[in-house]
Amino acid sequence: MAVKIFLNEDEIPKQWYNIAADLPGTPNPPLGPDGNPVSPEMLAPVFPMNLIEQEVSQERWIDIPEGILDLLYRWRPSPLRRAVYLEKYLQTPAKIFFKDESVSPAGSHKPNTAVAQAWYNKEFGIKKLTTETGAGQWGSALSYACSLLGLECKVFMVRISFDQKPFRKAMMETWGGKCIASPSPETAAGREILSKSPDTPGSLGIAISEAVEAAVTDEKGETRYALGSVLNHVMLHQTIIGLEAKKQLEKAGIKKVDTVIGCAGGGSNFAGLAFPFTLDKINGADIEIIPVEPASCPTLTRGPYAYDHGDVAKMTPMLAMHSLGHDFIPAPIHAGGLRYHGMAPLVSHAVAQGLMAPMSLKQLECYEAAMIFAKTEGMIVAPETSHAIAATIRKALEAKEEGKEKVIIFNLSGHGLMDLNGYTKYMAGELTNAELSQQELDATLERSIKGNPVPKL
Ligand SMILES: *Cc1c(COP(=O)(O)O)cnc(C)c1O
Repeated sequence: MAVKIFLNEDEIPKQWYNIAADLPGTPNPPLGPDGNPVSPEMLAPVFPMNLIEQEVSQERWIDIPEGILDLLYRWRPSPLRRAVYLEKYLQTPAKIFFKDESVSPAGSHKPNTAVAQAWYNKEFGIKKLTTETGAGQWGSALSYACSLLGLECKVFMVRISFDQKPFRKAMMETWGGKCIASPSPETAAGREILSKSPDTPGSLGIAISEAVEAAVTDEKGETRYALGSVLNHVMLHQTIIGLEAKKQLEKAGIKKVDTVIGCAGGGSNFAGLAFPFTLDKINGADIEIIPVEPASCPTLTRGPYAYDHGDVAKMTPMLAMHSLGHDFIPAPIHAGGLRYHGMAPLVSHAVAQGLMAPMSLKQLECYEAAMIFAKTEGMIVAPETSHAIAATIRKALEAKEEGKEKVIIFNLSGHGLMDLNGYTKYMAGELTNAELSQQELDATLERSIKGNPVPKL
């Protein structure tokens, strides 16, 4: 029984899949301050035009430039693994596969888009990138990508993660990036928040405001901003995960996949695996597709599909997405990468169209699943990834009850070797099950979303 399925380098997909070409229903473009769709020109101070073109593209297949493939070969194609030891432990008839994105230099799926974005910026003549980071994964991925391409990199890191994960900062600096805690005194957005709440744990929304501000205020015009998730072009770059996985499943003799699972913060690792399978579903295949989120930040399961800003200072256009409100600050759980109030518009659209069935899980079940995974498969996964594993275990046990030999695939979005603090606290019994209360949810929706334009279906 094969427990790992590889592709040769020449079998790497040569095109990305753009689901915007296939989603049913009405597209809902980003809206500017005047309530009208934003034009590519309006985004030009923030992103290079070649990426803006990708952001709005309706082409189904987009060629991956040779220069980007040359960077991706450093760790791709990534292995598809079969979790036979977890299957045995659960005594399930289900076949459990996972795509191992922990093999990249930064330890997660994020370099897939980091190297692509750095490459396009470099092509466009940009010298420096700014960004935000939650758990530190994206900041380290972008620092790594910038080091490959000779770009400067400045990272605003959410305060709570900055304090909890000092080694991520060391990784960023090793690759030549600068890393500062957000909110910071360096930007107007940061100073404003600090004056109101000096002890804030920070949030991705605040850090995005700071990074965008730092990019657009460069007087030389040589700085742009890079986002690690949410946007269409990021989802696009990540589809290499699912496209590889389909080839690998075919090699393993698997004809039909029943369930596709990924954890969802901004939606990119989930979309990367799931979108190529969603295409099959749009074309009639019977596949259950599950984005998994924390109960403390239940964007898809409890947030409305609405127009909202991507950041707290409203620097970004309004995006059609599931949202908990742009100033929502989730409980400080250890899965920092899943603490985002919004969700990728493409994932939100697919969920609103009924193509996906989101699930939310509490922190302790996820850590318990991660511990089982470590003891069976050996790998210590990121706290974000533990959400996908907990959902996989639920589905595998369901298959056992039904006596069905289901094929389940999940995305192992990253390793947890920089997140051992969380594991230590879990084992010491110090972690809790934070869950968003109805009262808090009502209040944040009232503040941020009530009265906003409503996306069409
Ligand atoms: C950033 C991150 C996530 C969440 O981001 P998505 O865009 O939703 O994928 C999940 N897992 C890991 C390991 C991450 O680094």
